[in-house]
Amino acid sequence: MAIVSFHSFKTTGPVPLASYMRMCLTGDSGGYYTGAIGQGRDQFGVEGDFVTSPEISQIFGELVGLWFIAEWMSQGRPSQGVQLIEVGPGRGTLMDDMLRTIRRFPAMADSIEHVFMVEASPQLRDAQKKLLCGPDAQFTQCDFGVQSNGRHIGKPVVWAESLKSIPIEAEKVPFIVAHEFFDTLPIHTFQSAPAAVTPPRPSSTTSPGGSDKSTETDSAQAHPSPPPSSSYEWREMMVSPTSPAAMASAQAKSKAAGREELAEEFQLILSSKPTRHSRHLPESSPRYQRLKHTPGSVVEICPDASLYAADFATRIGGTSSVRKSRPSGAALILDYGTSDTVPINSLRGVRHHRLVSPFSAPGLVDLSADVDFTAIAEAATLASDGVEVHGPVPQADFLELMGIRERAEILCKASGAKKDTADGAEKSWKRLVDRGPSGMGKVYKALAILPENDGRRRPVGFGGDVAPS
Ligand code: SAH
Repeated sequence: MAIVSFHSFKTTGPVPLASYMRMCLTGDSGGYYTGAIGQGRDQFGVEGDFVTSPEISQIFGELVGLWFIAEWMSQGRPSQGVQLIEVGPGRGTLMDDMLRTIRRFPAMADSIEHVFMVEASPQLRDAQKKLLCGPDAQFTQCDFGVQSNGRHIGKPVVWAESLKSIPIEAEKVPFIVAHEFFDTLPIHTFQSAPAAVTPPRPSSTTSPGGSDKSTETDSAQAHPSPPPSSSYEWREMMVSPTSPAAMASAQAKSKAAGREELAEEFQLILSSKPTRHSRHLPESSPRYQRLKHTPGSVVEICPDASLYAADFATRIGGTSSVRKSRPSGAALILDYGTSDTVPINSLRGVRHHRLVSPFSAPGLVDLSADVDFTAIAEAATLASDGVEVHGPVPQADFLELMGIRERAEILCKASGAKKDTADGAEKSWKRLVDRGPSGMGKVYKALAILPENDGRRRPVGFGGDVAPS
């Protein structure tokens, strides 16, 4: 039974994959993160659907905290204007471990003006407040959203529903972290196909326009296509409801094969004509343009990822309208995805720690897609001349260079004679740096956006050292 209400399907016909993902994950009428799975059930942990690195071991958040401390030191230990920003903070565990670590560096803790948590889910905002501010802490209204006082460094923790609510101010020093956030951002999928001959349209038609309503007819009216300059064009993969008959037959087949599978209520179909998005997005980079003339080529494009990367870069490096006296701050993006190729067929559904169809039980299944790190790097450097990008490097390299082994030894010794605890801690940290084919150390990667310095200073974790200041 679909929890997410897809009224728009009835009025617009098939919708782009990105619109489907957005409705399923953060839709007002019951997205996966915005209420569909219900009060009292958690997305995270053994009882939930998936486990993330900060939830596996406290060392993860401690080392990410240390990374920002090293950046703060390398950038001359600014004494004020520092902002800690996390996008998509889940249960708040990563920020909690980071702040516990930063507390040990009082000069940095003092320099922090605000801790910003950008979180779409009201339930998760509540869980984060309990963890970071204490069980009885209350929200009060503030300019950016709501806030409460943090228990680690005594600075205000502010919750914003979107990054846009946090003003971009040239004199601030933003330290931004995104862990397993970019993989939740909606993707568009395009496939190259022989160009269709467009019949002439009557000139009396008008365009209804509107966001995410890019049906073939809408888009054809909104952007009359020029005569094809090549014999191939991009077509968008759209999501449409599966017919009741097809659903019944698929379920009968699964049952006969002894499999218990959730019915696929939706299906992916290739648009028969170009759409508003297929005309523009795959033309936005030579990486996609090169593939257009190979029939059947598929590309996944995440415009939101580029917008976030551009926003981070603007905050750090400045632009002609955000004039910084000098670039400052840093962003650390940790996620799984491709380092040099364009992702394809990477959309997946996860429920109760198992891969399931992304088109079943919408709103109850977590959806995610591979992160295109090259696209993020491109968007960041295009947005601001004041930044440079390092990585992506495998998570195992990053964590080992940050000292995971040494920190784990100390923690295991601290757990003393309790062998079970020490064994558990040992297993956990090793899982984070597992370099096996599907190990977290290999699949997950780290990318840093830093103030431009002509590549002279590499950040720690990416082959560099803490620069003397
Ligand atoms: N970083 C956490 C959680 C990852 S899950 C961890 O590693 O454990 C993704 C997180 O992003 C959730 O907190 C989810 O509610 C949030 N999220 C997803 N889409 C969002 C959006 N568009 N804006 C803000 N937060 C979003």
